[in-house]
Amino acid sequence: MPNIGGPGQKKMMVMAGVVDSIILYAASVWAGAMKVKLHRDRVIRTQRRMLLRIAHAYRPVSTNAASVIAGVIPIDLKIEERAMIRRLVQTGTNMKEAKVRARGTAHDTWQQRWQNYGRSAWTKRIIPNIRIWADRSKGEVTYQICQALTGHGNFGSYLKRIGKWEQVGCLYCDRVDTVEHTVFSCGRWEALRAEMSETAGQEVTPENWIGLATRTERDWRGIMGAVEKIMTLKEQDLRRREREAE
Ligand SMILES: [Zn+2]
Repeated sequence: MPNIGGPGQKKMMVMAGVVDSIILYAASVWAGAMKVKLHRDRVIRTQRRMLLRIAHAYRPVSTNAASVIAGVIPIDLKIEERAMIRRLVQTGTNMKEAKVRARGTAHDTWQQRWQNYGRSAWTKRIIPNIRIWADRSKGEVTYQICQALTGHGNFGSYLKRIGKWEQVGCLYCDRVDTVEHTVFSCGRWEALRAEMSETAGQEVTPENWIGLATRTERDWRGIMGAVEKIMTLKEQDLRRREREAE
């Protein structure tokens, strides 16, 4: 399915849920097989493909970052969760309690894994706490928003790193172009940044950005809507440049 104009995130989540329930069929019984790297890698790879779609991510996004952005618990932790439920029920815990405890453990392990992860520094900086992000009730991650969440997208430093660009400079000013430069400091987007701050009622920074945007639906629309506009307009400018260069 295409990243732009494809099915919405809601539909993707439903389909991912179907694939998950197939993978997780009787997982509590075979969870031990996850100790074998070959088996573990296979299920993780399968889930990774879905996560990248749900997150509308560029391919090189790490599996860890993709699961956080998609707000989906990594598959190996879901398998462990099933096994833990089974263990608890077998030792006399009631099903409801077992599910709550196993889910809590899965979330804690996921958060710890994210904190210990050495890469995806930008995503970790803006989403240090997975729950605040994953538990939001509203807010679809589009292809444009995913670029701003990962830093993998139309930013000079990224395009240079993947060999698509010769230099790292900004299209609009003389600074090095990074995701932080584009969203939070480039003069070209001051008006849209003012819209973000007006919605938020304060200056939006990388540190408070996600917390503010996930407060209410209005905050999401105002703040993420501006980010989406920035990324859309920038992409149009890039395409124009490319055509002129040809
Ligand atoms: Zn700039």
